[in-house]
Amino acid sequence: MRIQFESKDIVIFESALFRTTTTLLLGDEHIILVDPNWFPVELAFIKDYISKLRATAEKYLFFTHSDYDHIIGYNFFTGFKTIASRNFVNQKAEAAILDKISTIDDDNYTLREYKVSFPEIDIVIEERHTQIQLGNKNYEVGYLLGHNDDSIYLLDTEKGTLIAGDYLSNIEFPYLYHSFHAYIQSLNTLSEIITSGQVSMLIPGHGDFTSDTQEMKQRVHDSRDYLAQIRQDHLGEKPFNFEAYVKRYSFPKVMSKFHEANMILVKKEVNK
Ligand SMILES: [Zn+2]
Repeated sequence: MRIQFESKDIVIFESALFRTTTTLLLGDEHIILVDPNWFPVELAFIKDYISKLRATAEKYLFFTHSDYDHIIGYNFFTGFKTIASRNFVNQKAEAAILDKISTIDDDNYTLREYKVSFPEIDIVIEERHTQIQLGNKNYEVGYLLGHNDDSIYLLDTEKGTLIAGDYLSNIEFPYLYHSFHAYIQSLNTLSEIITSGQVSMLIPGHGDFTSDTQEMKQRVHDSRDYLAQIRQDHLGEKPFNFEAYVKRYSFPKVMSKFHEANMILVKKEVNK
């Protein structure tokens, strides 16, 4: 499995599928595993990596959101306290999410030696914005709606590591499964955190991390720009040439279906 980044505090694993990241934060007295994913061989690689670490008292499994690719590794990791948002716990689309996993495993004849199920959560993030203590460290957690309806970010306030879930990727424009307006709010939240100067590393759910503040700001700008363009297109103010636009990305073929879904959502939310 590819390790995108490795230091004494942070390891970023990258799956061969959708370039999905799994982040491991290493504290003195605790570890936090975020969204462990994809193939059984990749999950085994991550588990093996953790088994070689000095035994820690506290192990946490943090879910940024309930999209199927981010919860798929649940149950493979036992003895972890799970963390997710209240909206995640109240998620109504559980069955549809699990169905996506069984469909993709079926399509690929993928065997899993553990039961795939929707995560049971031990530590529920109730507030839209809050501080939590894990091990001997403080973290900031906040809601980021718009991509889906139960996303949260995790910020290590001491080290400046920001795990953003499916926002601010360098390989995807915004995918709107929940709300156009909420997505704009989430970008404002992320922009505030980044411009406050406390982020030393931004880790998206898909694609590459960055430690460059200018690039973080650029990613916020690019996401806002895409949303502004689809809004203008919908309002008939300025046509959006998606075919030309999407050429900047490495995987343009699959992206048109996400764009089409985004356009349908904008039509529902933005009145002409
Ligand atoms: Zn994802």
